[in-house]
Amino acid sequence: MKTLPALGSTSVIYPESWDVGQVFAAALSSHSPFEAPALTWLGRKVFLDVEPGREGYVAYALLGSHVRDVKPGDYPLEFSFTQDGEQFLVKSTVRLRAKRYPEEHLKVESQMVNPPKSEAARIQQEARLAAAARKTMTAKRLWTTPPERPVAGVVTSKYGFRRVYNSVPRSPHAGTDFRAPTGTPIKAPFAGKVVLTGFYYYSGGSVFIDSGNGVISLFFHMSELSVKEGDEVKKGQVVGKSGATGRVTGAHLHYALSLAGQYSDPEPLFSTSITQLLRGMKATVVRGEGQSP
Ligand SMILES: [Zn+2]
Repeated sequence: MKTLPALGSTSVIYPESWDVGQVFAAALSSHSPFEAPALTWLGRKVFLDVEPGREGYVAYALLGSHVRDVKPGDYPLEFSFTQDGEQFLVKSTVRLRAKRYPEEHLKVESQMVNPPKSEAARIQQEARLAAAARKTMTAKRLWTTPPERPVAGVVTSKYGFRRVYNSVPRSPHAGTDFRAPTGTPIKAPFAGKVVLTGFYYYSGGSVFIDSGNGVISLFFHMSELSVKEGDEVKKGQVVGKSGATGRVTGAHLHYALSLAGQYSDPEPLFSTSITQLLRGMKATVVRGEGQSP
C-alpha cells in the first residue's frame, strides 16, 4: 500500500531493497521549494537538480552498484537538502540483494590478456583519465528516461557476465555489448556534455558523456569519434561510429553506464522510465504534516 504524503510535506522515495548491479531510482519531493538537494550513496555525494513536479518540487536520482565491487547487504542512503533556511539530513538504508550473473568464456589476442610491459605506463595513464571522467558530478539533470538505444543491434553480451579470457578469470562485464558492424552510427542515450574522448589501449576509440547527477555514459571500441571534449550533445545525437578498436573479439559497441562511479546494468533502463521505477515505492515523509512516527 502506497503512503501518500500529507499536504505541505517533504518526502523521500527510495527502494527498501534492490538487486546488486541493477539501476534504481530515488527522489526527494516537496510541496515547498527546497535547495541544494544531494544524496550520499556508496561513498559518493550526488548533487541533484530541483524541478517542478506533481507535488510541487522534485529532485530525481538514478543510482546503482557495481557488481564487481559491492557485496549484497545493507547500505546507507543519505538525503540532504535545505528548506526554509534550515539544513536537513535524512538517513535511510537500502538492502542490496544478491543476483547471479552468468559466466562467459572469450578468446582474445594474448597481448590483450597480458599486455607488454612497454604499454604499462600508457594503460595506467588511461585508467587515471577514465577514473577522473567518471568522477564528474554536475547538479543539472540532462538525462531523461527511457534512454535512447545507442544502436539498433541486439545485445550480444550482458552486464555482469563473469568473463574468462583465454581461461583467465577477469572482472565481470561492466557494460552491455551491442551487435554493431564497423561504421554503425552510435547515438547518445541521454543528452549531456562530452567529458573525455580518446583512443585507448583497452577500450579503443572512447567517448565519455556526463548527463548530470553522476550519470556518465561510456562508449568503447569505436572506429571514429564525431564529438570532442566540451561538446554538448542532444539525446539521440550521433557521437561516432562503432568499430573493433582496443581489447575486442570483433566489431561491437560496448556501452557502459556509470552512476556516481558505480557501473550498473544499463539494459533494463532502455524499456523503463524514472516514473515507472519510482511507482509503488513508499514515500517517507521527513518533514511537515503527516510525518512518519
Ligand atoms: Zn563490453
